[in-house]
Parts: sequence; C-alpha cells; structure tokens
Amino acid sequence: MKIEILERNDTNLRIIVKDADVPLMNALRRIALAEVPCMAIEEVVMIENSSILQDEIIAHRLGLTPLRTDLDAYSLPEDCECQSEFGCQKCRVTLTLDAEAKDGTRTVYSGEIVSENPEVLPVSDKVPIIKLAKNQKLKLEAYARLGKGKTHAKWQPVSMCTYKYYPKIIAPNQECPDCTKCADICPKKVLFIKDEKVDVRDILNCNLCMDCVEACPQKPSPLKVEWVKNAFIMNIESTGALPAERVLKEATKLLGKQLKEFEKQIKAEQK
Ligand SMILES: [Zn+2]
Repeated sequence: MKIEILERNDTNLRIIVKDADVPLMNALRRIALAEVPCMAIEEVVMIENSSILQDEIIAHRLGLTPLRTDLDAYSLPEDCECQSEFGCQKCRVTLTLDAEAKDGTRTVYSGEIVSENPEVLPVSDKVPIIKLAKNQKLKLEAYARLGKGKTHAKWQPVSMCTYKYYPKIIAPNQECPDCTKCADICPKKVLFIKDEKVDVRDILNCNLCMDCVEACPQKPSPLKVEWVKNAFIMNIESTGALPAERVLKEATKLLGKQLKEFEKQIKAEQK
C-alpha cells in the first residue's frame, strides 16, 4: 500500500491511498466517525440560570461545543480504574461558566468557559452559548468525559470523513471544433478546451458525476471518465478536538485491536 499526502494541517488531512480496497477504506471511515473517542460535556449542574433558555437547551449547546482532547491523559469512563459514576481525575474534567449581563444585553461565548485543565478547553472561543439580557445570570458547572460517536454525535472527532475513487479521464485525441459542452458543464472545472481539444487539469477534483460524458453530442462519446481500481482519495476534517492525522492513526489502532480480539475468539472456539 502507498500513501501520498495532499494536504495536512491540524484540522484537515487529504491523502491518496493506493493498493487498498473498499472494505478497508470504509472500515477506517466508520471507525473514525463512530469509535475514535474525544471529549465532550456530559453533565451540567446549573447553579443559577435566570436567562430565557431552559437548562436542557443550554446543556445541549454546551455538549455540542467541540473540546480540545488530550487522549493520552484521559481514559474512557468504562475503562477507568475508578469505575465510579462520578468519575475521577483520569476520566473527567470540570469546567465552569459564570456569566452575568451587568450593562445590558450581551452574548456569552465559549471563550468564557474556565477549565480545571487548560489543555481541555473549547476548540474555538467564539461559539455563542447564550444571549443574556440586563441583570440575567448564568452560572454552572459542567463535567466533560471521553466518549464515542456511536453513543452521541457530540463525541464525533470529525465533521467529515470521506473517501472517493481516484478519477481517471481519457480525453479524446481528436479535435472537437466548435464544441465546448463537456468543459462548460463540468461543475468542478476539471475539463477545459485548448486548441480545440479537450484537456484535463486538477484531475483530483473530478467527482465522477459523468455530466461531461452525457453532454457530449457524439454517441458513444470519445471522452472517457473512469476510476482507478484500488486507489482512493481520503478526506478527513476534524472538529478540532484531535488533529486529523491523530484521528486516522487512532482509527487504524482500533481496527487492529478489533481484529486481534476477533482472532482470539476464533482460537477460543477451536479449543
Ligand atoms: Zn475514573
């Protein structure tokens, strides 16, 4: 298998994977979405809420605010040695919010949340939590824990994890005088006309919609759009909870762990 990196930063990872197959790509995609853990607020204790929003709505908004996750320092509540429903230092982070509108209406942003661990804080400090009118107050204590996307979408470390086939476009050799239909219709502007011939640029942007082939007045069209067998473009966009690269690494680790467990069970059955 060969991997080529197209784009890599904290929130995005775009790679070309060659010599892989659909079941593997899909397993990694599903694990990244549903099983790689990240931090999210799970419990909220309201101390004072004189705003117009109900406690539940505020708690829901807080839960969906992405938190930076330190995977190495915390363990999942079900795996933690404390086995306590209240949690301990290794499986729970306490965050507090104390906001008041003293001088008139104002918006409370995620940046006002204070955490006992400065490593675990909202990814962005510009997420609006609530709008308070003059003299309204919101004071609460929240507990964040690790969890998995299959339990609730707030524990999904990625906002997007997709793969597509590697496109292959065979442009006709012949000249196509007075026809630019394929280039005009291409939504990704992959095709263009040069010296009355169809040419391809930025082939990775092709999403195999086949509009160009359908628009071609010649039937069958000399323009061929196909995909390369066993080559994929994978795109991971993180919510910011974990770096995109870490999400993929954790997904491969989890897949390995599941396969090992499977192997162990087979051996146990044979005995
Ligand atoms: Zn614990």
